[in-house]
Amino acid sequence: MAATRTFSIIKPDATRRNLTGAVTKKLEDAGLRVVASKRIHMTREQAEGFYAVHKERPFFGELVEFMISGPVVVQVLEGEDAVKRNRDVMGATNPADAAEGTIRKEFAESIEANSVHGSDSEENAKIEIDFFFKPEEIVG
Ligand code: UDP
Repeated sequence: MAATRTFSIIKPDATRRNLTGAVTKKLEDAGLRVVASKRIHMTREQAEGFYAVHKERPFFGELVEFMISGPVVVQVLEGEDAVKRNRDVMGATNPADAAEGTIRKEFAESIEANSVHGSDSEENAKIEIDFFFKPEEIVG
């Protein structure tokens, strides 16, 4: 099966606790390769735009505040079945429900401060990669 790509964010709760390397190792150990990475401090406009699908949800305002509360690391990950592979190693949204060995089980602080974002479909992966990266920033 051909390699595909997905989009990941190491969220502010993880960068604050100096877990960028530990989270990235989990991704690499799961068979994903980091083909683009940058540490940024999202603007409010970026966070609102990125999470626009959630704008009617009750947690939207707090989620935006959280995502701009510190630096994040945005990444493009490549591997076989990358979207699913990444979702599997991330674990459930709520760390209380996340399986052993997953990033969220090991590192997440709460349902909101849950250490990582990962695209939920190939279609959204393309949209999310384009939101943060120029093609020449991705080196496969
Ligand atoms: N989130 C939250 N409260 C909730 C559900 C989600 O703060 O009740 C946040 C959490 O950071 C989550 C993000 O919103 O990662 C996006 O939610 P989604 O349901 O898409 O979960 P994910 O795909 O990240 O597992």
